[in-house]
Amino acid sequence: MDLDTALEELSWIPRPRILALRRLGITRVRDLLTHYPRRYENRVEFSSFPCDETVDPVCLCGDVVKTRLMRFGGRKIFEAVLEESSAHALSQPLICRWFNLHYIQKVIATGQRLIIFGRVKRKGLRLVVDHPECEVIEDDEEILIHFRRITPIYPATEGLSQRVLRGLIFRLLEQLDVASTDLPLPDSLGNGDDEDALRKIHFPESDEQLREVRARLVLGEFFRMQMQIAAARVENSARAGCRHQTRGLLAGKFIAALPFDLTRAQQRVLNEIQHDLHLASPMNRLLQGDVGSGKTVVAIAAILVAVESGSQAALMAPTQILAEQHYAVLRNWLDPLGIRIALRTGARQEDNTPLPLFALRANSDSGSARVSRVGNGVTPSRTFSEDAEAVGAHYSKRRLPHFEKPWAIYAVTIGTRKRRCLSPKARTIVLDALRYFHNKRYEVFAACVMPDHVHFLIQPWPKENDDKRNVVFWPLKELLHSIKSFSSHAINRIEGSRGSVWEQERFDRYIRSDRDLTEKFEYILRNPWKSGVAQQNENYPWVWAQENDRRKGSAFRRDAETSTRDARATQTEDNTTPQIIVGTHALLYENVTFSNLGLAVIDEQHKFGVAQRAKLTAREPAPDVLVMTATPIPRTLTMTVYGDLEVSTIDEMPRGRGEIITHLLNADQLGEAITFLREQLTAGRQAYIIYPLIDESEKLDAKAAAKEFEQWQERLEPFRCELLHGRVVSPDKQAIMQRFRAGETHALISTTVIEVGVDIPNVTVMLIENAERFGLSQLHQLRGRIGRGAHTSHCWLVSSDKIPETMMKLAVLEKTTNGFEIAEADWELRGPGDLLGTAQSGLPELKLGDLRRDAALMRKARRAALELLEDDPGLDRPENQRFRSLIVERQGQTFSHVS
Ligand code: ADP
Ligand code: MG
Repeated sequence: MDLDTALEELSWIPRPRILALRRLGITRVRDLLTHYPRRYENRVEFSSFPCDETVDPVCLCGDVVKTRLMRFGGRKIFEAVLEESSAHALSQPLICRWFNLHYIQKVIATGQRLIIFGRVKRKGLRLVVDHPECEVIEDDEEILIHFRRITPIYPATEGLSQRVLRGLIFRLLEQLDVASTDLPLPDSLGNGDDEDALRKIHFPESDEQLREVRARLVLGEFFRMQMQIAAARVENSARAGCRHQTRGLLAGKFIAALPFDLTRAQQRVLNEIQHDLHLASPMNRLLQGDVGSGKTVVAIAAILVAVESGSQAALMAPTQILAEQHYAVLRNWLDPLGIRIALRTGARQEDNTPLPLFALRANSDSGSARVSRVGNGVTPSRTFSEDAEAVGAHYSKRRLPHFEKPWAIYAVTIGTRKRRCLSPKARTIVLDALRYFHNKRYEVFAACVMPDHVHFLIQPWPKENDDKRNVVFWPLKELLHSIKSFSSHAINRIEGSRGSVWEQERFDRYIRSDRDLTEKFEYILRNPWKSGVAQQNENYPWVWAQENDRRKGSAFRRDAETSTRDARATQTEDNTTPQIIVGTHALLYENVTFSNLGLAVIDEQHKFGVAQRAKLTAREPAPDVLVMTATPIPRTLTMTVYGDLEVSTIDEMPRGRGEIITHLLNADQLGEAITFLREQLTAGRQAYIIYPLIDESEKLDAKAAAKEFEQWQERLEPFRCELLHGRVVSPDKQAIMQRFRAGETHALISTTVIEVGVDIPNVTVMLIENAERFGLSQLHQLRGRIGRGAHTSHCWLVSSDKIPETMMKLAVLEKTTNGFEIAEADWELRGPGDLLGTAQSGLPELKLGDLRRDAALMRKARRAALELLEDDPGLDRPENQRFRSLIVERQGQTFSHVS
């Protein structure tokens, strides 16, 4: 007999037992021996009966002196009075009670010796234990198995008593030579295999032995899990991916135009992501950070890196609302950069149509390269090529409306004063000044320094934000002034001359289309030869274009990779394929055709399964994947369920966020909160009032909501309230939000529809009714909608539920606003179920290990597995052969997307 023997083959196990075991999924010796004890009772010595209540359950042994069955209405109560075997004057009998359990009265009888396990409570004068676990001691030869030892107690199983299960396992172990689990461990984790591990885990000889053997077995389980994860990582990194090698200009522009600076954490995380994007192997990264820590901004920057390299990027959200929200955010930030974005959800498809601002196209150039859209609609003054060389043009003082336009590109010509001829050295100074001066104030696309004038294409960058948080760009005038005076100084210094090198006037022309841009670009690059300053085959070193620079800088030769990348880039830029596709799961199932998908960003990962992720990424070349989660994940879970991902954490909130103070409130103290609320509204702040709806689609809800709303209107009179819930149709919803955002309404009575994407800094109060109905993480998410401005914010959690567990749960929120702490607490209170999505995780089941309790062991196992596979990725070395079974066994089922 060995571990793989079928139980059926063992003639001594009665057929009914075999069937009962099969129902539990136990068919082989191995299954039964890894049906580990849930806990142990030390039956070597029993503690004496307590004289009062106990905090924890206790294990006691006594004699049944009396039993009785009582009826209360429909309820049957069975009582057994237990007396300590060696009773003394002070010992009190204990009453065990069972409610409505028919079978128990058949099992327990006066005169028996009983072992019970349960918590002792005081009921008046009596000490009682309700529904204790119990076992009758019969004086048979089996006493050896069940008593006088540390006795295993198994998870409750239907149709099999503790006694039977324990007996079966005991016999099996007697017949087995080697009771090892064959879960090999590397030397770094333990010394050799314990041939007796299974025997010891069921029937330990001491607490210490139990501790040791348990740790050994847990490590074995964890190590197997981590080997599978590590193997998945190895395989993934061996896949052909997309190398997004760019200068990060688009991302740079986007960041520069933000009305704030990135936090240090955002910057760090973005660097981590960019590093991965530059590599050829596919990225698999988890981006986690608290609500409002600014993940979206980081994700957009990452998307822009992919887009700049000519790839398409996808952004997926778990719900329609979130997808639309992302779409709106992206359009807002990226339309000015001319990026084509499409929304693809189950319900709605919308391709990017130009914003009204840019809709008045003067001519319909088909292209939409990122720079082009900016100037559309502005009447050209004169064209560059006609007028560039015209002497005496005077445009210096003009001010055109396009000064307000974002990301405008200008073709500029500046002449030297009195047509002074620039020496070669001076020309180099001018060219360098244009290229390197004032990094981040502008970008130059092409420049050419002629003997007595200079041409260049320049794009001013954002300078600051005005008080309305609008982005203000550097005025061209200011930029040109500083370029001129800087270069004048530098030239004068080396040439010993004085005064300005440049003449007052200049030409600057707004670029209005792609074609226009291309023309100017070519014009500048050819100018020296066209104008005869240089001979046809002569080199003219003072011509420069960004494109040249990139080629020179990045590759010594134009290798295959570069040319395909360029080909791709032109391909996407030539047609109307969206560069970014935003959507829901629909992206996975409907026939959305990606062209050259290079990066997939998945928001709120815990609602996506591994399998779904796999579906999106199972293509060649493998796109980079960035997974974002708004729910901070406890650390142990990131090592397991997300173990195949690299982790980036934003652990810092943007500055200038006010503190959020959370108060718990009983429903009958609501008046207190209302008074406070009115004070805040009087001070000019706004408020959210949230009430839970179980199912947004229920008909009843609209009615309940309306009633709720009326009440609040009265309470907050004369302030204006509005009502928002899932059944309000979309345009109305937007109008309501718009009025609230503008401060026209003071309080928004709402269901959790405001959970996502609402960002109104003036709202400083949130009152959540029936807070007990929400999960901790959801409450934390909701609360994240306030505290976005500089004012201190207040969150009132109102609950009429006085159950201690509820209070404990809500108290967590009172104590901390740190999402990671809340996630840990949530995990502890609810168990890992919700967070894990275990069914989807594809990881081996843990039979013994506890992710939370054994976190330290998990860390050890992870380190060992990663090291092992780093050293020997193919497990080719003889001493590592024994680990192959750990991986091969499950491959294909587990991380199917990488195999
Ligand atoms: P998350 O997705 O992590 O919940 P968001 O990216 O939606 O957070 O950002 C929340 C809000 O904070 C947005 O309004 C965003 O514009 C703003 N924000 C992001 N980063 C910063 C920052 N560094 N400084 C100030 N505000 C920021
Ligand atoms: Mg977000």
